[in-house]
Amino acid sequence: MEVIKQGDVPSAEDWTIDVVCKKERATKGARGTNPGGGCKAVLKITVKDLVLMSWHGTHFPHYYSAFRCPNCGKYTEVTRVPIPIWKNLYATKEAIPDGFDDSV
Ligand SMILES: [Zn+2]
Repeated sequence: MEVIKQGDVPSAEDWTIDVVCKKERATKGARGTNPGGGCKAVLKITVKDLVLMSWHGTHFPHYYSAFRCPNCGKYTEVTRVPIPIWKNLYATKEAIPDGFDDSV
């Protein structure tokens, strides 16, 4: 496939997102070890602020992107990361275990 005209995917250098420090994962909710408790700061983060985090499911680890709040030091999941940025994060960063383990 060939891209004839670039779409609206931002380059990694230009990408930013406004996030709220919540210290939680949307998909894990209250089951996790990390439910709520962030300081609710509103932050604009860039690709440099993203970290790779992991939790252990029944049989294998799962990964997600997050940021660490500079105010309170807690991690919050970032869900709306463009796929190229996510792929680079996954390929290049060491995952930080978030402490949740559902293995049998
Ligand atoms: Zn915070």
